[in-house]
Amino acid sequence: MKTIGIIGGGASGMVASIYASKKENKVTILERNDIIGKKILVTGNGRCNYFNSRQNLSYYHSDNFENLEKIITIDRVFEVEKFIRKIGIIPKIKDGYYYPFSNQAATIRNALLIELKHKNVEIKTNVLVKDVRKDRELFEVITNDGTMKFDKVIITTGSIASFKKDYYFNGYQLATNFKHSITPVLPALVQLEVLDDKKFLKKWAGVRSDAVVSLYEDGKLIKEEVGEVQFTDYGISGICVFNLSRFVSRGLYLNVSEVIKINFLPNLSSFDINDCLSLLEEQDNLAKDRTIRELLAGILNEKLVDVILDISSIDGFLYFNDLTDLEKVKLASNLISFEVKITATRPYSCAQVVTGGVKLDEIDSDTMESKLVKGLYFAGEILDVDGDCGGYNLTFAFLSGMLAGISCGER
Ligand SMILES: Cc1cc2nc3c(=O)[nH]c(=O)nc-3n(C[C@H](O)[C@H](O)[C@H](O)COP(=O)(O)OP(=O)(O)OC[C@H]3O[C@@H](n4cnc5c(N)ncnc54)[C@H](O)[C@@H]3O)c2cc1C
Repeated sequence: MKTIGIIGGGASGMVASIYASKKENKVTILERNDIIGKKILVTGNGRCNYFNSRQNLSYYHSDNFENLEKIITIDRVFEVEKFIRKIGIIPKIKDGYYYPFSNQAATIRNALLIELKHKNVEIKTNVLVKDVRKDRELFEVITNDGTMKFDKVIITTGSIASFKKDYYFNGYQLATNFKHSITPVLPALVQLEVLDDKKFLKKWAGVRSDAVVSLYEDGKLIKEEVGEVQFTDYGISGICVFNLSRFVSRGLYLNVSEVIKINFLPNLSSFDINDCLSLLEEQDNLAKDRTIRELLAGILNEKLVDVILDISSIDGFLYFNDLTDLEKVKLASNLISFEVKITATRPYSCAQVVTGGVKLDEIDSDTMESKLVKGLYFAGEILDVDGDCGGYNLTFAFLSGMLAGISCGER
């Protein structure tokens, strides 16, 4: 009988175990926590957004795009959807985002647990894996509960995202002990801190507003996202901001200047100053005898109006036509292209995932087996893959777990 050790009982480890388990294989999950699948419970605000009908590679990121596109094929992605359906989950689909019909993340975890039970997977909790070594053909797994031996091992330890600063995480160490390389690991899907030299952060704190956010690195447009931005006393948050954060993390790490331009008038005005000026003039003609502050308050949250007027150095009690051409242009520019300099991301403890991890060029893209060590496999967030908000990270965890499990279980 072949023995397979799964290091880490999260999303990828659970799926890998299900696929690896067969009559002739003995699969054991080693999990440091007191239960497996703990992180699944907090995903999607407790609802678990596990999949998205919008699928293409632009939602997934890695330093090694060539290998990423070999791993994440559209057939494999939809195999994940089928798998979740086959373990009894009926989806509730909203704008392409898949949640369990129950609206409870626990439903996904429970369905995986039942499947693990049917497949006779052994689950050992409160077991911290301290080291993994290969002694000839066998892997020796050293834990706080003694040493175990396996024919094959899948490392699915996830990442440090969402844990407190003092969280002991040795997932990368387990990989580097086998001479695997790690691309820089940085927070992703995380809030951004903004330079507050003009003291406006306290003024806009608590506001939520639809906007277009465009990320510029050293003046070059990198990515644009549309959605609800949450304005806070440290900077900006919200799904659209999260989706820019992995680029910001990597840019700041490389000392690149990171600027976000905010268009507060999505759908109302284009990014063109003249269109915005026409809109303001139209408003001024429509709503008579309004000060500029009153005029803007008809469009935007009042706190944002104050910030924009302050930054534009415009007295809100003036009328639109009292403004000089230069002031009008400045105002329009701050309405559709409000520039903030990003100084940092929030720490790992606030991040949903990390960007970076075990390099993909050292991993076989069909089997997830290490190219350096026969019989050693990786899956999930430990790898240098991160996805946008929208279910892409769990989809990758499931997909890579599926590939590792199939291959490990068969050969
Ligand atoms: C707040 C939050 C919300 C999220 N929401 C979503 C969402 O809605 N949709 C989405 O797609 N993604 C979401 N994610 C991301 C998603 O949860 C992760 O990408 C996914 O769980 C990664 O799966 P994994 O199996 O690689 O790692 P994990 O799920 O983190 O599992 C790794 C496991 O390994 C264990 N482990 C680690 N080291 C050891 C060791 N040395 N010995 C033994 N065990 C070990 C850990 O305890 C853990 O149980 C969210 C993340 C967070 C934090």
